[in-house]
Parts: sequence; C-alpha cells; structure tokens
Amino acid sequence: MNLAQVEPLLPYHFPKPKIAISDCLLGTECRYNGGHAQYDFVRYKLAEFVEFKRFCPEAAVIGTPRETVRLVDINGQVRVIGPKSGSDYTEGLQDYTDKKMRFFHKQAIDGAVVKSRSPSCGLDRIKVYRPNGEWFGSKDPVDMGLFTKNLRQQFPLIAIEEEGRLQDAWLRENFMLHIFAAARWREFALSQPSVAQLQAFHRDHKYLLLSKNEALYRQMGPLVAQANAVNFDAVLTEYAALFLAAVATATTRGKMINVVEHMYAYFKDRLGEGEKAFYQQTLAEFKLGIVPLISLMKVLEQWIHHFGSEYLATQVILNPYPAKLALRSSINAYRDFKSK
Ligand code: SF4
Repeated sequence: MNLAQVEPLLPYHFPKPKIAISDCLLGTECRYNGGHAQYDFVRYKLAEFVEFKRFCPEAAVIGTPRETVRLVDINGQVRVIGPKSGSDYTEGLQDYTDKKMRFFHKQAIDGAVVKSRSPSCGLDRIKVYRPNGEWFGSKDPVDMGLFTKNLRQQFPLIAIEEEGRLQDAWLRENFMLHIFAAARWREFALSQPSVAQLQAFHRDHKYLLLSKNEALYRQMGPLVAQANAVNFDAVLTEYAALFLAAVATATTRGKMINVVEHMYAYFKDRLGEGEKAFYQQTLAEFKLGIVPLISLMKVLEQWIHHFGSEYLATQVILNPYPAKLALRSSINAYRDFKSK
C-alpha cells in the first residue's frame, strides 16, 4: 500500500504547525567547526508535516567556522564569551535574537525544536562558567541558552523540546499533541469563526482536552456556553488562553485511560460479552504497558464505524496528528507520572 493512503477514514484536516528550529538539526553546516548536527526524525519525518522556521544565532553573528562560546557569569550577568579570544558576543547575539523573536511573533509559531548543550540554543542545564573559566559542577549555576531563554520568555505556552528529548516516545507524543493542537487553534482563530463554530471546535476537542487538563476543560465549557455576538471577541481571547494552557499540559497514561473509558461508555450497552472482555483485556494490557495506545483507539474506531456516533466520529483525540508519524504505536508513549 502506498504510504500516502495511510490516513484516517474520516475526513480529518491536519494543520501545518509552524516550528522554529536550530538550523544545524536540519543538516545545515553551521556549527562552530563547520559541521552539522542533523537529526533524522525532524529532517526526514517531521519535515513532511510542519513548516520550519530556521535560526542559527552563532553563525549569523560570529560566522562559521568560529571559536566555541560559553555562558559566563560576569558581575551577576550571564554573558556569551569566546574563551579563546576573550570576545563578548552577547550584544550581537541579543540583537539577532530580538529580530527573530519579532519574526516569530509575526509568524505565530506553534513550537520549537532546539539543539541541546548549546550556549545559544540549549533548553536545559547549560553551564554558566565563572569569569576565570572554572565550573564546579553542582555548586555553580546552569541556565538556558541565550536564544532559547528569550524564546521561552516570549512564548511561554508553546512546545519547546531539545532534539535529544524528542527521542523519548512520551515526550515526543506530548510534543506532537501540543504543536498540532496549537496549530489547529491558530488556523481556527484566523478563520473568523462564528459562535456555532466555536461550540463545534470545543466539542471536537473534548477528549483531547480531558486527556490534558480536566480543570481547565471544565472552565472552558461555561465560557463557550455564554458566547454570543456581543461578547464573542472577549470570549475568543479568553478561550485561546485556556485552550493553549490546557494543551501545554502533559498527558499521562492515567488521563488517557480515563478518556478511553468515557468513550467506551457510549457503546457499552450495545456490546456482546466477548467484545467487552476483549476491550477490558486490551485496556488492562495498555495499563501494564504491554500494548500501545493505538490498540485501544482502533477498538474504539471500529465501534464508531460499526454502531455510528456523530459525536465521537469528529473527536480530535482519535487522530490528533497524521497517522504516518505512528507515535501511538510505541508502548513507551504513555507514562503514569506528570513531570515533563
Ligand atoms: S546549536 Fe544553535 S547556534 Fe549552534 S550551530 Fe546549531 S543552530 Fe547554530
């Protein structure tokens, strides 16, 4: 079968998330030594479904090849210094960063993939050296890279991941759920929706939102219910904030089981004993990490096609991103704990 045919039977539309990305991850030879840090998943798989917005602060400001740089604490301020020449590149890098942030705001990016262990792009645990070049392990601070720190501050609710963390099936699943939901909202908000369309959008995201953040979902229902032509702009603004905060929350195996059980309840009374037993066995195997989420979802989809359910048929949770990404086929894509 042609892979292009592997899409849901129902007419789902997948938006194209706009993703800021460290250019070296796409194979561009912009690293300090003239090399790249290509990450095949983003270059060959994700590239088919998203629109990349590339950046490389160091190549743009210092050039390639270049001396390595590091974060250094100088009088309480974190600076980006080339230890070999003693040059301070902070101002130039900040100017480049400011320009890119303005561009990203105009583009309304939905997420970012950044290079780990970089004083410009790293998301986590980048060493901050003392002025004399020493770093004493846990006694000294760590920070985000300069560019990514600005990105996080200016886009607090978008999904940002390092390429290394995206190798973890659970973090990757959460990242994909997040960027496709954010992009879906972006497209929807730009389409000048009506009150009825907002109600439909909210209905179709019910189980996705429940799998993310039930408390926020419970706030969104009354908000949508009181929307009318007069207050619609204010409702949309408030709904956007709640929706984007909800989809930024990590999903867990427990939350997903709760959602699957809710959907199962639609069919329970129409199933034979054998079908119920098969469902319970599959659910138990998902709980134990023996089978992946896709096994349960396919059981539910089969019943939607067999018994029919307009309400469930359009639920985004069934197909939150293109099937070819195949993330739900991993038994490691769901965990029980909440840290992300
Ligand atoms: S890590 Fe960032 S600054 Fe370094 S080469 Fe890659 S994109 Fe450029």
